[in-house]
Amino acid sequence: MTAVLETDFVRHANPFRRAGRWYKVNLHAHTTTSDGTISLADCIGGYRKAGYSALAITDHERTNDVRGMSTKDMLVISGMEYHPPCPGRPAGYHLVALNVPHGFALADGAPGDAIARIAAVKKAGGETILGHPYWCGLRYEQMACLSDVIALEIFNTQADRMARGESSEAWSQLHDAGWFLNAVAVDDTHDPEDMFCGWTMLKMRRLSVASVIDAVRTGSGYSSNGPEIHDFTVRRGAVELRCSPAAAVYLVSQSGKGARILPLPGKTLRSIDFPIPKTWRYVRAVVVDPRGMKAWTNPLSLM
Ligand SMILES: [Zn+2]
Ligand SMILES: [Zn+2]
Repeated sequence: MTAVLETDFVRHANPFRRAGRWYKVNLHAHTTTSDGTISLADCIGGYRKAGYSALAITDHERTNDVRGMSTKDMLVISGMEYHPPCPGRPAGYHLVALNVPHGFALADGAPGDAIARIAAVKKAGGETILGHPYWCGLRYEQMACLSDVIALEIFNTQADRMARGESSEAWSQLHDAGWFLNAVAVDDTHDPEDMFCGWTMLKMRRLSVASVIDAVRTGSGYSSNGPEIHDFTVRRGAVELRCSPAAAVYLVSQSGKGARILPLPGKTLRSIDFPIPKTWRYVRAVVVDPRGMKAWTNPLSLM
């Protein structure tokens, strides 16, 4: 199993074994520029005060002029949520562009399909995240064609208010097919009650838009709506994980494989050391705390 470990380090930016520091970010937020109820200034001010290191403003089909709004402690990223047609879903996709310039537009006169629009975002210097696939009810073939997205939203606070916050099955379908796409957790802020409920922790050497995008793409982080994860790695054929006190840890692998690890009655878990069955092709962990809040690692390929 030593060879597996070496493969992991080549293919994944294991954030827990990488130099840098942790940054808390929210990469999906709306303001009064589209259908949010919070002004741009209040949205940025709220996340800054809450200790976030980066916030992406992603109004529907509209950008905001955020130039000059970043500070030494918090990066404000110019983004936009866009809605290209989705085969079999009349309301279209919800795709979240990061790092598009102010004034960037796709709604009018833009190439029609999602793949062309993702390419247009890239051409403008940006990248795209697949928004809340469970809330959208996306099927495998509607996601698998979006090969140029850099992550999907495993958790979305706004969708959670409608009982479809966690996109675990959608994510697993991609992993089962061999596409080890990474994930983020976001607030998708529309109202004050959405704020600070879903976030991504990124491990980076420095805070910049380029390093945020690189960390999201390479999986240098984890997603959470509560717990902390302090280590997650594969060593000597076993998964090692350390976390804040947990009521359960789930290890997710391909369809039909996986494990649930529970503490002794009345106790919590702070670490696990779980021998990986040789039949598992990948592993990711879900930490559940005593309140039912979760944290999600990115997948490690075991092939
Ligand atoms: Zn959306
Ligand atoms: Zn949104």
